[in-house]
Amino acid sequence: MATLIITVNPIASRATTAAYPPKVSRVDTVIVGGGAGGVIAALTLLHRARTGDRIHLIERSESIGEGVAYSTTVPVHRVNVPANRMSARPDFPDHFVRYLESEGLGSTFTYAPRQVYGQYLRHSLAVAVAGSAADFVQWHDAVISVDGAQVGAQDGALDVRLGSGASIVADHVILAVGHGSFSVPVPAGPGVVTHPWTADLRAVVAEHDAYGRPIVVVGTGLSAADVVAELDTYGCRDITAISQRGRFPEAQLAQPEPPLLYEQVEHLIGATTAAEIIHAARLLFRRHRDLDWRRVVDGLRHVIPDVWPQVSDAEREKLFRRVLLIWEQHRNRMPPETADVLTRLIDDGSLTLVSGRVHGYRDGSVLVRRFENEWAVRADLVICCTGPSRFARKMGEPLVDHLLDRGYASPGRTNIGLGTDLEGRVLGPLVDRLWAIGSVRRGSNWESFNITEIRTQAEVVASRITAQHGARV
Ligand SMILES: Cc1cc2nc3c(=O)[nH]c(=O)nc-3n(C[C@H](O)[C@H](O)[C@H](O)COP(=O)(O)OP(=O)(O)OC[C@H]3O[C@@H](n4cnc5c(N)ncnc54)[C@H](O)[C@@H]3O)c2cc1C
Repeated sequence: MATLIITVNPIASRATTAAYPPKVSRVDTVIVGGGAGGVIAALTLLHRARTGDRIHLIERSESIGEGVAYSTTVPVHRVNVPANRMSARPDFPDHFVRYLESEGLGSTFTYAPRQVYGQYLRHSLAVAVAGSAADFVQWHDAVISVDGAQVGAQDGALDVRLGSGASIVADHVILAVGHGSFSVPVPAGPGVVTHPWTADLRAVVAEHDAYGRPIVVVGTGLSAADVVAELDTYGCRDITAISQRGRFPEAQLAQPEPPLLYEQVEHLIGATTAAEIIHAARLLFRRHRDLDWRRVVDGLRHVIPDVWPQVSDAEREKLFRRVLLIWEQHRNRMPPETADVLTRLIDDGSLTLVSGRVHGYRDGSVLVRRFENEWAVRADLVICCTGPSRFARKMGEPLVDHLLDRGYASPGRTNIGLGTDLEGRVLGPLVDRLWAIGSVRRGSNWESFNITEIRTQAEVVASRITAQHGARV
């Protein structure tokens, strides 16, 4: 069967909705979100598809394969994992490396510009669509609700409603909605950038003539590191980065070594309390002290989804209090190129790191608190890089709110993400029909964020969905 790609754009063509199909007859799978997660889910389903399978991918922004991470066009914004760990294909570990090589853009250990990764995802999707037996439809629209279809009318199917007014009946829906909105510690206003990935920082710096003026970056995670590296390219030389810990993530090696094998870390699965987990992890670091520590951290990361479900909420809270900040500093690392820029800026006095909590912005200064001390840091420009909220109710995602309000989903453990099982089923009345991949699964998996984790999840979800289709036919 010929594969079909229709890019329907009801947002751009509202004036001509007569030509726009308001109702789509039953499809097999709707994927909500066309960021990296949605595209990887589509790739996985397309590879497994049989003739006549109908797969719809719905993305509300204009671009597919970008989402928050890969929409940047700034060349110093790089992926933070070497190319050999960024394949979108679980069955083809060197897929991204091959793409880079064929385009003359790099090889195994390249930390590619993130926009290149978006191009790779789009290219991979186009190739997969062309070679698949499925009918594939790509929508530019927002999914505003997913409900159980009318009882009796559609034997358990889901009713998917879109912002344009269109609706689709689907056997399965995969939520790949990403991170949700940011928590912002200072009020929005002139001189405050609340979302670094959507702002044109070059224009903002020019508008505020902020080159030699004090700039405060709130946060010291990977986004903050990217923002500082970008500000460097505009010649900004008075930057203060503030966070609780006051430290940037550790750096990747130029040629990273592979993580410990699963067999070397799986004994952690027996640990259920914070104390046991920390003790077991310490022993592991001691046992492998002759290895680069990154190999141990990456090995631990692989076993976390298996350890996490056995840890009670109270013990999870203890872990957050005791090791969350230090874990985050070590587990998601900066590409070596970014680390080099930051080191240079610190060494020449252009970048200062401050440990404290930002809680306001008044009279051109950011207000910082640490224990009993409170002080102000002058800032002509404030750029918030505090990251998205992990709590489902604070994601600011109307579809997630709808699912929670209607009782189709509930918050995950300790209110993080949505409640899912380890195979990605959203727990609730739509179980086995409604699935999730990516950040919304942090409540169940904790580590549910990077491409390796997302592609593994996509593979499992796709295999469960295709198994159900097999049973139905
Ligand atoms: C700055 C940054 C850099 C990163 N770098 C790396 C890296 O180098 N390597 C790595 O492995 N990981 C990296 N990550 C982790 C990253 O989260 C994943 O790689 C990936 O981007 C997650 O994709 P996603 O599709 O789950 O989420 P998102 O990228 O957030 O995409 C979600 C998409 O869903 C759409 N959407 C949401 N709701 C709806 C709706 N109701 N209807 C229609 N569309 C909707 C959104 O518009 C968006 O496009 C990075 C993350 C960030 C933030």
